[in-house]
Amino acid sequence: MATTIIEPGVIPPHGAEAPFLRRAERAAVFGLRARRFMTLAQGHVMADFLRFMGHLAEAQQRTLDAQGAPVLPGAGQIKLCKAHGMPPLGTQTLRRDPSWREGLHSLLAQVESQANDATRAAMQRLAALPEADLEAFADRLLDGDYAGLDLAAAPLVGAALQVYWVRLATALEQADFSRPEAHTLCPACGSLPGASMVRIGGAEQGLRYLHCSLCASEWNMVRVKCSHCESTKGIAYFGVEGGDEAVKAEACDECRSYLKILNMEKNPAVDPVADDLATLALDILMDEAGFLRSGPNLLLFPGDADA
Ligand SMILES: [Zn+2]
Ligand SMILES: [Zn+2]
Repeated sequence: MATTIIEPGVIPPHGAEAPFLRRAERAAVFGLRARRFMTLAQGHVMADFLRFMGHLAEAQQRTLDAQGAPVLPGAGQIKLCKAHGMPPLGTQTLRRDPSWREGLHSLLAQVESQANDATRAAMQRLAALPEADLEAFADRLLDGDYAGLDLAAAPLVGAALQVYWVRLATALEQADFSRPEAHTLCPACGSLPGASMVRIGGAEQGLRYLHCSLCASEWNMVRVKCSHCESTKGIAYFGVEGGDEAVKAEACDECRSYLKILNMEKNPAVDPVADDLATLALDILMDEAGFLRSGPNLLLFPGDADA
């Protein structure tokens, strides 16, 4: 992905306007993430966990590269969603085609040799699930209904659903999407953001985009505004002492929630999923300070993170 860095004070090229929605770069999204996981793993206390996630991200990219466009909503449906400011690929309304399950089985086959015993056992449980149970598993994960769910297997299902929704979002045209009523949800699929990014390059220099936890689309939201309740009062930034300056928690005093904000101006390599998982110490700090995280990371293996 080529990025032009504009020096401060230099006016972007005439006519350049930052898009309200940036969809994932299909050919690179998970590959770049895999590289970032591997970099973050070096010398990290959770090195094994981060390296495995790197292998999983590599497998996500290979699966994405191997699969074509999924079954898309009809033109009438897309038009209707646009007219009403609704996401055309909403997790509640879209009927998933079976190719997401093929993607899951492909992921499992690719990372099995890299997995530890606990993860391999979770993979075997998943592989043995009947189709209807796997669909119900996916529904519950997408609804954020985790009670009683097989949490060791959940990130693998989450990874497969991410591949599927990136395939969906990148198969539509930019004109199929509209700026929705709710600025706090993804304009493409209606999911919560998992983090936000201060971007670099061209008209996007210094702008903040929320990053969808599912389809990896990003949408513009002004800075110093709560990404959960849209309040602009009482926003504060927290970091771990001696930690990465590019990763902060943006916390809101109004709704007592937080979401991490990654600043590419401080480090252009930051990734909203990998850097999130490499900074779980910040989540512990925020929990102790009494803030609740407002968006998920679909790749979190709770058992491994505790270890
Ligand atoms: Zn999305
Ligand atoms: Zn808030």
